Amino acid sequence: MPSPIAHAVSGYAIVRGIAPSRVYKLWPLALYAVFVAIAADFDFVPHIVAGIDTHRGFTHSLAFAIAFSVIVSRLMSQRTSTKWVRLFTLTLMIYGSHLLLDFFTQGGSGVPLLWPVSNQTFQAAFPLFPAVHHSNGVFDSIHLIFLSFELAYTVILLWSLSRWQAFNHQRQHKTSHLNGR
Ligand SMILES: [Zn+2]
Repeated sequence: MPSPIAHAVSGYAIVRGIAPSRVYKLWPLALYAVFVAIAADFDFVPHIVAGIDTHRGFTHSLAFAIAFSVIVSRLMSQRTSTKWVRLFTLTLMIYGSHLLLDFFTQGGSGVPLLWPVSNQTFQAAFPLFPAVHHSNGVFDSIHLIFLSFELAYTVILLWSLSRWQAFNHQRQHKTSHLNGR
């Protein structure tokens, strides 16, 4: 898996890219996006606490992604009076981005996308993200590889996002200008 950095940035980028800021208050939504984007990796907790290897298990499946998105967006829509369908779609996209990123990551055993139907794991033949070596501890120089890669990913993603928003803004401005004439 990539580290929580790449997951969190992707979740944030999805929210910034598709949520109209006049409808949502962005910061609570951005925090929600970060939570959803890293949620699948909470299966790492039993490993830290008890040494039981549960990582990249059922939380990395499509069935769990849907179940999680239904429950969490239901709770959120009740609290925020936002339309459930809208929140569900957003939550599923963010959770899905986690599975996609893990699918394109080097090392590990892949992701069990079809659980509980099948335990088969899936991994891209040409991974884009370098593996994170958790077993080497926090202060190992090997982490510089994934850190530089994920930093570059963050910069490129956020830069593309700002260009996309600037383009959209300009287009809207042009349209309203033409309609005004
Ligand atoms: Zn993961």
